[in-house]
Amino acid sequence: MSTIPVSHRVLIFDEYNGPLEVRQFPVPEPEDDELLVKLEYSGICHSDLHAWCGDFAFATVYPLIGGHEGAGRVVKMGAKVKDWKLGDLAGVKLVNDNCLNCEYCKTGNEPLCDRSRMYGFIRHGMFQEYVTIRDVDTIRIPDGMSLAAAAPVLCGGVTAYKALQETNVKAGQIVVITGAGGGLGSFAIQYAKAMGMRVVAVDHSSKKYHCEQLGAEWFVDGFETNDIADHIRKITNGGPHGVVSFASSKKPMEQALEYIRKRGTVVLVGLPKDSKILVDTTPLIFNALTIKGSVIGSRLDTDEAMDFVFRGAVKVPLEFVKLEDVPNVYEKMKKGLVTSRVVVDFSL
Ligand SMILES: [Zn+2]
Ligand SMILES: [Zn+2]
Repeated sequence: MSTIPVSHRVLIFDEYNGPLEVRQFPVPEPEDDELLVKLEYSGICHSDLHAWCGDFAFATVYPLIGGHEGAGRVVKMGAKVKDWKLGDLAGVKLVNDNCLNCEYCKTGNEPLCDRSRMYGFIRHGMFQEYVTIRDVDTIRIPDGMSLAAAAPVLCGGVTAYKALQETNVKAGQIVVITGAGGGLGSFAIQYAKAMGMRVVAVDHSSKKYHCEQLGAEWFVDGFETNDIADHIRKITNGGPHGVVSFASSKKPMEQALEYIRKRGTVVLVGLPKDSKILVDTTPLIFNALTIKGSVIGSRLDTDEAMDFVFRGAVKVPLEFVKLEDVPNVYEKMKKGLVTSRVVVDFSL
């Protein structure tokens, strides 16, 4: 076990859109019920860009160390920690510090707990070499699993997996995924396939090959297709049983409500800047439709999502960067040029 230094490298910004600088900070001390995790990889999620830009100003603070997909090893433990040992593989996700005892925590809806605090949003996140986390919040990464592949599952993977579960689509039934060629969509196509669902991928035509490679049975050009609702109803023989909407604009959400099958469920995940959409309640009522939102997942959802990747049923295309490179990745994200999961490798 390597010795723990006094200070470590962090990537921090002092104000929204301000410079993202690598600085030396003291290595935190774990509390009695906490682990100190030495991160080896930290995934860069699209929400990190939003946090830096101040798009989620209602839910973020600054100065802030971003990042919420951290994977590493336990290097120190508080006195009361029982179920972990030094060297264990550990994942640190977005939502932590939930009370474990309220209605939402007790029913496996931990992200909805009023007491939960988000790493990389309202407390320092994973763009640092060492992080402390409460033992019960830490995700156990299976022995022998690649830590690099595990990191993006902690937000991207579990978000995609949970949204698919929320559609209630069964094996053999059809799910439409909008924004299918992006980070979350690329996860979702694979999870859906592994869960036995048949996938219609909707995205820009440039993403067609990518989506089909990942397992989409149909591809629909979301920009050039005339009467997309009619087209999707036709190819799915009456509409898909579920829709997962990752596209962060209003039109695809409204279209989903037009082509969803009777009794179907539309799950909204992607956040448009102007978040109000128009819902025609007559077909909603007469076709007995469901619209719901979905936000990340619980610890159990995370364990399950992790297992698909561990077994090789879901693959994570990775690109590695240095901590100093995160600002460049944000610039690429702004231009929509990121197709793989970009992960900070702290050994670089
Ligand atoms: Zn995220
Ligand atoms: Zn709670």
